Amino acid sequence: AARLCSGTRGEAEAADGEGAMLRHLARKLRASGPVTVAEYMREALTNPGQGYYTRRGGVGESGDFITSPEISQVFGELIGIWCISEWMAVGKPNTFQLVELGPGRGTLTDDILRVFKQLASVLSKCDVSVHLVEVSPKLSEIQAVMLTGGKVQPNPEDKSAYMKGISKTGIPIFWYRDIQDVPPGYSFYLAHEFFDALPIHKFQRTEKGWREVLVDIDPEVPDQLRFVLSPSRTPATQNFIQPEETRDHVEVCPEAGVIVQRLASRIEKDGGAALVADYGHDGTKTDTFRGFRNHKLHDVLSAPGTADLTADVDFSYLRKMVQGRTATLGPIKQREFLKNMGIDLRLQVLLQNSGDTATREQLLHSYDMLMNPEKMGDCFNFFALLPHHRLVHPDKKDKPESKSPLAPVAGFNELLLK
Ligand code: SAH
Repeated sequence: AARLCSGTRGEAEAADGEGAMLRHLARKLRASGPVTVAEYMREALTNPGQGYYTRRGGVGESGDFITSPEISQVFGELIGIWCISEWMAVGKPNTFQLVELGPGRGTLTDDILRVFKQLASVLSKCDVSVHLVEVSPKLSEIQAVMLTGGKVQPNPEDKSAYMKGISKTGIPIFWYRDIQDVPPGYSFYLAHEFFDALPIHKFQRTEKGWREVLVDIDPEVPDQLRFVLSPSRTPATQNFIQPEETRDHVEVCPEAGVIVQRLASRIEKDGGAALVADYGHDGTKTDTFRGFRNHKLHDVLSAPGTADLTADVDFSYLRKMVQGRTATLGPIKQREFLKNMGIDLRLQVLLQNSGDTATREQLLHSYDMLMNPEKMGDCFNFFALLPHHRLVHPDKKDKPESKSPLAPVAGFNELLLK
């Protein structure tokens, strides 16, 4: 249900990328032997020349998959309200950064910035800036057009960013390749369908113990890839499989772990929050690695570079990698999160304000896509990182009566904006 069917895409373009990436991988596999699934996924998605996201990154109706921010403006608006509600709950600091990881077409940030503009009187004394972490040159171009109308400066001298511009609403925007380049400071970090695109390692339990699943060239069929098992343990099997593991097949995304650790350290030090929204599980699923092309399931080993590759996010692993630096909330289902954020009220207002039947139908259709448990409502989850003091008063144990109660965190509880 996560990647839904609609729209098509030029086969000629697909065929062109198909050849180049496959030839590159086949050469590499013949020269130095099989590679891990993580290495294969990294090459296929973000290789600087031929990677899927580098060349195209087909988010949206005319691409390979559609995401919640692309389905309805309400989604981004509610995330914008979430940021403002958290900002108010900690006493309205006079500056904050909005940091988005993997912004795709830039739609989520665009919808959030519209909310910030509408609530300009609330934010009037706050200095807001936007920081986008994006590896794809193609997508950063699309984001620049969406957010600034295309008026950007490449390689600004004064910053670690590779590009900067000013949003249509007058807010400075910076682009980076790595979260570590984003300046420190009180920040809201957003990762929507970002972690599922990061490379995973795959492991299989065998009679001889755990073995890593690798990608190799098929000796029988020219230029065809196949999965093989490592003949012995690999460094990854040693490091990533827990002794108490009960599943027979396990996927681990160490890069997600590293990024979550960075987010947790930054939030611990400078405050703010991270909101991760993705499809995933809590350490229970096994084989979730899959490909999408033209909104249809696609064999992960066929035509690398022309299809989106993805794996469910393991929220239990993210929680573990936080290592207690921050508190965590969730994962909770998308339909519960959006309901708590007031999506029903927002839908009513939009329906009342829309004159024509087509717009009303569109609003109801997109609401159904986001909320229906059979569509995106149940399989997408929200997960948050917050400083411990946001959930528990540091001195609560000593003087429980001396402090006013902490505001509940919106989305995970009902939104209470005063
Ligand atoms: N958040 C958007 C797009 C999701 S697609 C949406 O929901 O519509 C994944 C996004 O992550 C793309 O923008 C892709 O280019 C980016 N991406 C993938 N791997 C990345 C990495 N290692 N570092 C930074 N961005 C990455």
